[in-house]
Amino acid sequence: MSTGRGTSISAAVSRGVGLPPSIETLHLDAPRPDEVRIDIEACAVCHSDLSYLDGTWATEFPLVLGHEAAGRVAEVGHRVKKFAAGEPVIVSLIRTCGQCRACHRGQDVACTGEIALNSTSPLMDKNGLRVAQGLNVGAFATQVVVHESQIVSLPDDVDLIAASLLGCGVLTGSGAVTNTARVAAGDAVVVVGCGGVGVGAIQAARLAGAAQIVAVDPAPAKRTAAKDFGATHTADPSNSDLAEVITDATGGRLADHLLVTTGSPAALEGAIDLLAPMGQLVIVGMAGDDVTIEVAPSWLAASNKSILGSKMGTARVAIDIPALIDHHRAGRLDLTGMISSKHDLEHIQDAFDEVWRGDVLRTVILPNRTLA
Ligand SMILES: [Zn+2]
Ligand SMILES: [Zn+2]
Repeated sequence: MSTGRGTSISAAVSRGVGLPPSIETLHLDAPRPDEVRIDIEACAVCHSDLSYLDGTWATEFPLVLGHEAAGRVAEVGHRVKKFAAGEPVIVSLIRTCGQCRACHRGQDVACTGEIALNSTSPLMDKNGLRVAQGLNVGAFATQVVVHESQIVSLPDDVDLIAASLLGCGVLTGSGAVTNTARVAAGDAVVVVGCGGVGVGAIQAARLAGAAQIVAVDPAPAKRTAAKDFGATHTADPSNSDLAEVITDATGGRLADHLLVTTGSPAALEGAIDLLAPMGQLVIVGMAGDDVTIEVAPSWLAASNKSILGSKMGTARVAIDIPALIDHHRAGRLDLTGMISSKHDLEHIQDAFDEVWRGDVLRTVILPNRTLA
């Protein structure tokens, strides 16, 4: 239920598959009792945003994308006690009711609770048409209204642009390593796809004490970057034999954990054969709705291998994001080095093009600024 009040914002509105976003003035409803309005400082472009734009995943239009964000609290609903205006926060797409069975078990990504924003977007265009919040946030905009469970306080000394990466990509990659795969010291880890999620996984594997970290990506620049962030070996899947590289890197043991962070079906092909006995294939990147894989169950059982899905790195927002902030402040987690470029809202299509071409680790939109 809208209160009838609200604010005007600028937002990049996507109105269909393949269409460039248009910068429009939208109405943003005032926050309801358990919601928060945020001034967006930075929102990184995640590959998931583009999966809606290219039709890989179905969605409703019009919508405002952008879900990996940081900013400052502008207004809080009257039941919100944990946050105050002016406070710097990270905004994530994970929205939890705090009341359902999954929430009680600490399984944020499986929350089934009823939250008002799940059924009514706070955004409306000038014709009175509701505009969806892409992936629960819609932060390619000057402001957002989100549920209080979606934000985490930041210490004042953390750069908001760097911190925005903790909203999705780094949270997902590191969560896949620590929460889903539970990588232990001495393990052999292979990370397929070295974008923002992959580099988050590589850094988390390094922090977990993995003995070998093999980074796999067709882009030479991404393989070089992967080494800077902690990979011990790299491989180009387009012209090298992955089995050979992983065999050499692990002294023949193969991978204890193979994390696929891309949605590419080719990355899953033969992945199970690269696992050591007891090894885990962890599917982090979201493939298209029509992609399937074939597995021989008897062989899976006989070699005690497993396939794990990792939605958002099985992340628990209120626990994992503060832990990552601590790593970042202590210099153990490099976020700043992951940012390849910055754009203002007017030039958002340039940012999308960079991501399409695969030549950036992370590009960040600064919706409240005008860049030269
Ligand atoms: Zn994302
Ligand atoms: Zn819940």
